[in-house]
Amino acid sequence: MIRYFDNNATTQMERDLAKLMASLCEEEYANPNSMHSFGLKQARRHEEARERVAHCLSVDPREIFFTSCATETINWILRSSIFFRGKRKKIVTTSIEHKAVLNTLRDLKTISNIEYREVAPESDGIVSVDKLLSEVDDETFLVSVMAANNVTGSIQPYEEIGMALRGRAVLYHVDAVQTIGKIPFNLQKGFCDYASFSAHKFHGPKGVGIAYVKRGSPIKPFITGGGQERGMRAGTQNVPGALVASIAMQRAIENMETSSRRLRDFQQQIVKSVKALGGVVNTPEDSISNTVNVSFAGIRSEVLVNALSQEDVYLGTSSACSSRSDGGQYVLDEMGVDPSLASCSIRISMSRFTTKEDVAILIEKLKKTVPLLKF
Ligand code: PLP
Repeated sequence: MIRYFDNNATTQMERDLAKLMASLCEEEYANPNSMHSFGLKQARRHEEARERVAHCLSVDPREIFFTSCATETINWILRSSIFFRGKRKKIVTTSIEHKAVLNTLRDLKTISNIEYREVAPESDGIVSVDKLLSEVDDETFLVSVMAANNVTGSIQPYEEIGMALRGRAVLYHVDAVQTIGKIPFNLQKGFCDYASFSAHKFHGPKGVGIAYVKRGSPIKPFITGGGQERGMRAGTQNVPGALVASIAMQRAIENMETSSRRLRDFQQQIVKSVKALGGVVNTPEDSISNTVNVSFAGIRSEVLVNALSQEDVYLGTSSACSSRSDGGQYVLDEMGVDPSLASCSIRISMSRFTTKEDVAILIEKLKKTVPLLKF
């Protein structure tokens, strides 16, 4: 039996939702844009999904758009902002964003004559609000900050930053991919213009991204074509995906409180065992409860990950969203973690499906493997 601890990379779908998805693909396959009643039924299902997501986030359904993944959503939002910048040239972000943000900004810099500042976090992995705001000046047209970091689990002061930006003519995007089912994330206060989400991070299907675009915030269509998603994102809609994603989101939020409490307990057990084995914990204290990033000096990440996968225990070196060789080590580097420890970091990320037994086996395998690899 496998023990899966790589949930920040992707999650397992619940059996009934996987079955629902399959049956929707098999039986309710009409194009939601078709005029016949079979198609209209799918159009209604798609709107039902939008309404459920909007309800989960306390926003208007017209502020929700479906895409293919969070990377697409992020590309859309960041690239769209270029058209509304006027003469301003600057974007402010953090140096620990996901590559979907950092590499898009890098690309924008080469094609659009903009500049961007990456604000580094403090040693606890959290970005200082004052430091970030001190970079926001009259030249700034966009700020992009992640809510929770996928590598360490650190929670960023995304709401405080949004509140401080209120009244300033600066657009604000929050990468909220690692929040759903982990921390309360609600857009009711309207503290940002845009937010991005990804269904496969909260036990939904792969291939479904979600964009929140606040009413009145400027946005330009990303994919042009048949005018779907109210002209913003053309292409035949993934109705089964959106519908199942919306149910998965609702379940993740409903289960959050109980699940976080259990995971916090598991997190503490893991931290205690790692320390007893001479490991160093890179995850700050008030992080999302599902994540523990740790280093065992002298054992390179990939060596430990490979050794544990021989035992059917699967965890991450860092971000599985990046190429295999270029993981999330940069996040630890930015926190000032010694490079010799950063290259030995592993990411243990749980979900509400993680059991007591899974954690006991992980700890047992760490106790067996770490001392062997140290010598
Ligand atoms: N942002 C964060 C914080 C992530 O953790 C990830 C994936 O790990 C992404 C964005 C990209 O998500 P997707 O896989 O849906 O493109």
